[in-house]
Amino acid sequence: MHRDLVDWTAAADGNFVFPTGVAAHRIGDELAAMLVSPDPRVRDERAYTAAAGWIRAGHLDDVLVAMGDTAVIRPHRCPACNTMGLMWRDELQRVLCTNRRCVTKAGMSRTWSLARLAHEHVAVERYLHVRAT
Ligand SMILES: [Zn+2]
Repeated sequence: MHRDLVDWTAAADGNFVFPTGVAAHRIGDELAAMLVSPDPRVRDERAYTAAAGWIRAGHLDDVLVAMGDTAVIRPHRCPACNTMGLMWRDELQRVLCTNRRCVTKAGMSRTWSLARLAHEHVAVERYLHVRAT
């Protein structure tokens, strides 16, 4: 049986204070798995909320590349053009939209930070949840 290394109930109750005593890469692995969970409570209320705060605070800097390449990016849409064509670019440390027509005013491909993407996702899910009830 899989046992979570992070006590997610306690983390959520404690306003997602970064857990101590657990290696960052283990937390990253666990988050990556939770971010693709079909259960919105696990995925959005826990994983995305935690990831957004911890990425912004720099707690996951060392594991972002591995996370970025897997769960955080692939299942999501570009906040600007809504295309499912996001790719992690290691050299930029940002997520790149692969839609060639999705560019900035300067004509550059749009890129997003992981924290921004996580926030977008949580905002969209909350919006959909509010509308559904
Ligand atoms: Zn785009």
